[in-house]
Amino acid sequence: MEDDEIMKKSGIYRYVLSKDLRDLSFRTFDKKQKREAYERQKGICPYCHKHFELEEMEADHIKPWSKGGTTIADNCQMLCRDCNRTKGNKY
Ligand SMILES: [Zn+2]
Repeated sequence: MEDDEIMKKSGIYRYVLSKDLRDLSFRTFDKKQKREAYERQKGICPYCHKHFELEEMEADHIKPWSKGGTTIADNCQMLCRDCNRTKGNKY
């Protein structure tokens, strides 16, 4: 009886987890989109205006999902890790 409960719970947990991951990957830019944005910016971070390698940058939605932005290359900008981490303070 108890084992049954645990199995049921962990099954639900796994389901929720994998659903979250799916949603997350849907909102994540793929390599091609990142490279496109990176080349458009010529490797310059739009926040601190310094040059970074592609591997040092993270993709960001120009128009956030919460405001109706979608995960397309045109809505992608590459920020350096520091700016991506602190950008929340600027909005
Ligand atoms: Zn930066």
